[in-house]
Amino acid sequence: MTFNELNLIPAILKALTKENYTTPTPIQEQSIPAVLAGRDLLGCAQTGTGKTAAFSLPIIQLLSQQQSKTHTQRRIRSLILTPTRELALQIAENIGAYSQYTTLRCSAIVGGVSQKAQERALHQGADIIIATPGRLIDLMNQKRIDLQHVQILVLDEADRMLDMGFIHDVKKIIAKIPAKRQTLFFSATMPPEITKMVKALLVNPVKVEIIPESNTVDRIRQSIYMVDKANKQNQLIHILQDKSIASALVFTRTKHGADRVVRDLMRVNISAQAIHGNKSQNSRQLALSNFKSGATRVLVATDIAARGIDIDELSHVINFNLPNIPETYVHRIGRTGRAGHSGVAISFCEMDEIPFLKDIEKLIGKTIPEVKDHPYPMQMTAQPAKMQGSTASAVATKPARPARPAKPKANPPLKPRSEWFRKGSKTSR
Ligand code: AMP
Repeated sequence: MTFNELNLIPAILKALTKENYTTPTPIQEQSIPAVLAGRDLLGCAQTGTGKTAAFSLPIIQLLSQQQSKTHTQRRIRSLILTPTRELALQIAENIGAYSQYTTLRCSAIVGGVSQKAQERALHQGADIIIATPGRLIDLMNQKRIDLQHVQILVLDEADRMLDMGFIHDVKKIIAKIPAKRQTLFFSATMPPEITKMVKALLVNPVKVEIIPESNTVDRIRQSIYMVDKANKQNQLIHILQDKSIASALVFTRTKHGADRVVRDLMRVNISAQAIHGNKSQNSRQLALSNFKSGATRVLVATDIAARGIDIDELSHVINFNLPNIPETYVHRIGRTGRAGHSGVAISFCEMDEIPFLKDIEKLIGKTIPEVKDHPYPMQMTAQPAKMQGSTASAVATKPARPARPAKPKANPPLKPRSEWFRKGSKTSR
């Protein structure tokens, strides 16, 4: 099936082409027609299945078709509730991309940042709001947000909102939204409390269940290198010196990080190109086709830019940085091991990323084997309990220049990972 066959409007199809989406994922195939038909939806699916587009594409279509008929003031017509800031921003970014050729506006309302910019965005008007419950409640209490015109409500990762103790806030918010609306409800699991909510909120919903591709993930050989930030580049070069690695997709957290990795690889004659949001569409396309043809051995990407990259027979994925959203890890490594091929996923974990590793292992339900015998073992010995957020960077060692090995020190060995995790505190999720 193609997106054309889903009866999407040209403005959306154009955006999907730009994002390099060619084929709808199963959840998109099943959800888009149902949502376009105005039905409530119950989706049992995790991040990584394409569920964001599954709900946002039909929302964009429904809202923009209305907009062309009426020329009234811009009002919040769709509200998307999601548990974490990262997810909210990711969804806002996706919707921004999918709706770029429409006149719709979307805005994220999340905690942990100043409220001012969000107030301004609300004042200017938004058609779609993606919010975390806490900040939304604050704005509602201050009477700075009007939810009376919401027609489509999305509850994303409802089970996680329950786990994180947001369910009362969520109920309070729903109480302020018109009862006559379309509701799209997503949850990876269905504990009794969630089932109760589903019964209370959804009217004759279409049910879509997507089984996670755990088989694929199981087929991928995963490993972790505990390595100091200062030595990641050396570690990468060391790994890529193995000529049997025909192609590797390397993920970095930032665009600058991606450029830096490319520069340092090129310096030692490993062919590499970066693909990220600061590159023009043409140079992204070129980098991708060079990588696919084998002209470039290493493609270095950020998550956003890697979206839509579809490469069969990719042998290695290397996480230069671990993602803070565990589902992103699953999605990244799922780039290899496709179509029955086996794949290798290598991840570097620096001290600050230990909480992310803990979240990932929790999600995939197993410990990723650690490679102990390598030239750049982690030298830092601080306790992970102190290793979060800004504290982490305060304790981190001064970053050394890449491509220059930090001298191994005679520090006492790190505690076993099992002990870190027992003590490790929660991440921002
Ligand atoms: P999600 O589950 O919505 O977080 O999506 C996971 C990732 O898949 C995101 O990076 C999306 O941009 C990407 N994606 C979603 N749908 C498609 C598609 N039909 N083709 C290619 N990439 C997609």
